[in-house]
Amino acid sequence: MPTSPSGWLTGCESSIRGYSWSGGGIHPIIHPEDAILSDVDAICTGEGEFAFEQFFDLFGHEKDYTGVPNFWFKNDEAVVRNGFLPLMTEQQMEGLPFPQFGEGEQIYRPGKGFGPMGLGDYIDNDGVGYTTLWSIGCPFHCSYCGNTKFIANDPKYKKIRHPSARYIIDEVKSVRKRFPHISVVSFHDDSFMAIPYRQLEEFAELWKSEVGIPFAVYGVIPNYVKQDKFDLLTWAGMNRVRMGIQSGSQQILDFYKRPTPPARILEAGEVIASFAPKFHVPPAYDIIVDNPIETRQDVIDTLELLYRMDRPYTLFIYSLKVIPNTDLERSMRERGVDLEAIDSSYFVIPPRVGNLLLYVLTLCRPPRRLFDRLLPHVEASSTPQRLYPRLGVVLRTLYLTKRALSHVSRMDYSILPGWTGYVMWRLGVVTFWQRHVLRQPPRPARLNKPERVDAEPSDGSTQIRLSPRRNTA
Ligand code: SF4
Repeated sequence: MPTSPSGWLTGCESSIRGYSWSGGGIHPIIHPEDAILSDVDAICTGEGEFAFEQFFDLFGHEKDYTGVPNFWFKNDEAVVRNGFLPLMTEQQMEGLPFPQFGEGEQIYRPGKGFGPMGLGDYIDNDGVGYTTLWSIGCPFHCSYCGNTKFIANDPKYKKIRHPSARYIIDEVKSVRKRFPHISVVSFHDDSFMAIPYRQLEEFAELWKSEVGIPFAVYGVIPNYVKQDKFDLLTWAGMNRVRMGIQSGSQQILDFYKRPTPPARILEAGEVIASFAPKFHVPPAYDIIVDNPIETRQDVIDTLELLYRMDRPYTLFIYSLKVIPNTDLERSMRERGVDLEAIDSSYFVIPPRVGNLLLYVLTLCRPPRRLFDRLLPHVEASSTPQRLYPRLGVVLRTLYLTKRALSHVSRMDYSILPGWTGYVMWRLGVVTFWQRHVLRQPPRPARLNKPERVDAEPSDGSTQIRLSPRRNTA
């Protein structure tokens, strides 16, 4: 896999007839000047669906392709930088073929080269789950997120775009036709809950009647957590969500340009927690640690917020990595932060007191007096301090075990790829559990009452307006 001079791995590389390109991923989009210096001939710097169609057409007919938009090409040390295509419209998305899954794909095996993907490869990688997304776009522009670059390239990226509910339902059905063992679907949209209620309603009714298996929604933004949407989607089969919190400090949230004040996070957590464990696997909340500008008080504010959050929940804890050529990098440099090269994964969490308390909070809410005695030992990540690696291993093991048990107790193997879930499905346990053991949520009262809709502006606040009656037949 080619690496660029700054050490990035370029994403999704492919080659035909000795011609190689980097098909996408965040690297060519966020930092094209760096990506093009990798050992590739071209990079795709925008949406690839229609750009690649043009490129393959010209390349296949041995015509000049160097003017294809959304691409940069490298020719004899010169770089051709083409402009952007307009973003795909929803009508165009509706006409796209479904993502390939189980239709003769090839897999690369080190030392053996490419060969056909068999059932075992899908089970090894995805277990009994299927990962997809319905919508593209996010109304926010958090400074640490790749979306800032997508929005800089085209401000229309903030608008949520998606094909019809019928399209995404048919996509999942087509996958399940080939792989009936698919028993849970994970939606990795950036902002699934920002999709208007009416469209979610259409999705929910189709899902309930034609798919009928659990699904998880990643990428939930606190501002868009609404009781009616959760009632609706839970009734349809939603069994888990993942929401971004990132910090409990207003100062750090402002620094990240996230308009999600702690009070709104608490409100969202209250709604979400009311569904677990009765109908949901406990939700997962994203937290960012190791921010060099965080003060000790900022770290404590995050711990205090999580202490107050309604339970149960688990955390996805990420160590902040500042990606070159982003708003975050610029903000850090403006504050005089000496940024180091990224040399470790964002999953590597240093076992300092503040981070260990995060693991503790996923396990239980400690007595207040004990918590108050531990907080004075918390320091900012930039302050030299003692590390507790052994305790870190113990707490992390307990945290992971609790997470796994909460999934398995609902026969949800979406975070446990491999054969265990497949065997349980073959034995009929997964299907039996989903249909006869798990409690079924009630039909939401608002379903098919079209008099009121939420108009949701880009800041995530909600206004109510009247709408004409919709034909739901
Ligand atoms: S809300 Fe999430 S997806 Fe949207 S810009 Fe922020 S981090 Fe990125």
